[in-house]
Amino acid sequence: MALNCGIVGLPNVGKSTIFQALTSTLAASENYPFCTVDPNIGVCSVDDGRLERIAEIMRPAKVVPATVEIVDIAGLIRGASKGEGLGNQFLGHIREVNAIVEVVRCFDDPDIIHVEGKVDPVADMAVIEDELILADLDTVEKRLSYVPKLKKTQKKEIVEKTKKEEVILERFKEILENGRSVWHLKFEEDERKIVEEFHLLTVKPKLYVCNVDESAISKDNHYVSQVKKRALEEKAPVIKVCGKLESEISTLERKKERIDFLRSAGLKESALSILTRESYRMLGSKTFFTAGEKEVRAWRFTPPVKAPEASGIIHSDFERGFIKAEVYHCEDLFVYGSEIKIREAGKLRIEGKNYLVQDGDVMLVRFNV
Ligand code: GDP
Repeated sequence: MALNCGIVGLPNVGKSTIFQALTSTLAASENYPFCTVDPNIGVCSVDDGRLERIAEIMRPAKVVPATVEIVDIAGLIRGASKGEGLGNQFLGHIREVNAIVEVVRCFDDPDIIHVEGKVDPVADMAVIEDELILADLDTVEKRLSYVPKLKKTQKKEIVEKTKKEEVILERFKEILENGRSVWHLKFEEDERKIVEEFHLLTVKPKLYVCNVDESAISKDNHYVSQVKKRALEEKAPVIKVCGKLESEISTLERKKERIDFLRSAGLKESALSILTRESYRMLGSKTFFTAGEKEVRAWRFTPPVKAPEASGIIHSDFERGFIKAEVYHCEDLFVYGSEIKIREAGKLRIEGKNYLVQDGDVMLVRFNV
């Protein structure tokens, strides 16, 4: 299953505006793999300066970036964990994503109704967090209710695992009952595997997106400052996006027009590029490249990945018939300026089946099927 991020937030905070801008920017850009899997799922390309630099050197016919999947999850409201609105359905969608992009409203506009009556991003963050905590508490209590029965089974390994589970669940229960998330807890490898099976919502990595109006692009408004302060306590990253502006930019067809528009708004790059890059990072994704005359392409992987498995991301035949990989690092390409010079400098390595692929590697796979 592809790793993905879900956009969550209260209704009317700008989730759809941002989601649509993300997907239509892609639709407008030539060459980029764009597909809408579902009206609510967008496959977004990830801007990577290294890919552009490799392409400048190689001058290929085609440049293909890595992608990240973003899911637009409809608005969550107070009481969702108790089934308010389409509560359980939304929480179910959040359960299915690997990381959370939470949009918070940081703009005033009397014409746009706020479900809670007034613009207060920190209070909004608390509403969502409370709902996720309550949903997790429900999960934890349900699992705890199976413990006595499981401890009575004949299978020793199940009893042992259940005992471990019980200790973790009790710890979670206490924290969640105190209204706190469990993201900060540290686990040993075997415990982590158990925790993953719980599919808790508050352990998922989270990124906050402050949706601001144009006046707050160059200087944070007081809402953004409040969000940043609160996010720091959670050690969660914060990005500022002007949804309205980004959606205008996304309607421009040519890259140059988009760049000019951004400059005139005082931005170096689209906040959506930062958003997709941060989402990619949050999912633990890394990139290796393939670089030839026909195509320069970025491939996403989640380490640790050995060379044959990485080759399989390109094509299943490459994995099946993997012999070896010729590998150099993209930084060497930037230093030496061509593949020939990299070879001459002895920077091109021949790697075998046990090679662990590194972020920034450029690979040529030798295979035989
Ligand atoms: P969602 O319910 O969170 O998906 O919110 P929408 O994206 O549908 O936005 C709700 C309303 O707020 C729409 O009318 C948007 O045009 C408007 N909106 C979104 N972003 C901004 C913004 O940055 N500034 C202002 N003033 N309005 C915005």
